Amino acid sequence: MTVSTIIEKLKTQHTAAREELVFLLNEITDSDREALRRAAQETAQGVFGNKIYIRGLIEISSVCKNDCLYCGLRRSNQNAVRYRLTEEQILSCCDKGYALGFRTFVLQGGEDGFFTDEVVCDIIRAVKTRHPDCAITLSLGERGEESFQKLFDAGADRYLLRHETADSAHYAKLHPDSMRGEERQRQLFALKRIGYQTGAGFMVGSPYQTTENLADDLLFLKRLEPQMCGIGPFIPQKDSPFRDFPQGSLDLTLTLLSVIRLMHPRILLPATTALGTIHPKGRELGILHGANVVMPNLSPVEHRKDYAIYDNKICNGEEAAECLVCLKRRIQSIGYQIVTSRGDYCGAPSDTIV
Ligand code: SAH
Repeated sequence: MTVSTIIEKLKTQHTAAREELVFLLNEITDSDREALRRAAQETAQGVFGNKIYIRGLIEISSVCKNDCLYCGLRRSNQNAVRYRLTEEQILSCCDKGYALGFRTFVLQGGEDGFFTDEVVCDIIRAVKTRHPDCAITLSLGERGEESFQKLFDAGADRYLLRHETADSAHYAKLHPDSMRGEERQRQLFALKRIGYQTGAGFMVGSPYQTTENLADDLLFLKRLEPQMCGIGPFIPQKDSPFRDFPQGSLDLTLTLLSVIRLMHPRILLPATTALGTIHPKGRELGILHGANVVMPNLSPVEHRKDYAIYDNKICNGEEAAECLVCLKRRIQSIGYQIVTSRGDYCGAPSDTIV
């Protein structure tokens, strides 16, 4: 077994065995990394050219009933500043985003009981009435199949629900007893069944994570076949129980982005804000390693700092328009271009991939 043969297998067969994935992640050298990166970049360019899709992220609530040990919005964090946006505020973020060229809005938030099915359905319908050519992505945690169906029927197109870790024992170390990894996975399969473009994903370098866990995350993605996948480094949050754990590694995150691109050539794969937070060129590096999506923040500036899932989150002070100018410049500097389109998952047969 060599790393090069495993990279070759990922390139041609889009999969590998668990022990091969573990071997690759443990033994990869700098020159292997460059070969993997190049293969992933070529694969992404074969599908998407030099186009980068943008998603406007609107953080609708910092209120959460959960108590995930890594997250700054966890219920037990007394220092968290809690806010929730009104429907008017959300619509105004969408209007501003639309004028800037956004055609996907991601409504993300803690698991906030205020946002009942009725409230969220009203918001979905209002956004769709004003912007019928836009996609709505929800990222509101575990709501259960019945709720997912109602929101889908109201017009939601996509749902992001990171599985966080595929290993149930590892999941239990990151979450309170009330949460179960199996349940989260069950909800992910339900989202797919309902017809959502579905996003899974995990943190890289979360406390207690092993290489075997990461291999299992990759194999879980292979079983689920999500249309989107969000990964980013774990970043400690000062008021969370994991405040003293080290942040996830840049190189490992980039390696995993490339592996995911090779395993899922058409997947919508963001260069995440967390990646941009741990390195000044993190998002550009993500794109060069196979990512094809960026998610600038459209939340009202006065609330940005309060959606503090981890420390030092970037773009806390800038208006959406400024963020977009900065991002456009960054993306052009590496030979790519931001496009205005919904950027839906394109499920055409893989023989069209160059
Ligand atoms: N409540 C929603 C949205 C959570 S925030 C949900 O449950 O899906 C989105 C993602 O941020 C989480 O899924 C998690 O993977 C990531 N995240 C949370 N805390 C983090 C931290 N300290 N470092 C890095 N990523 C984190």
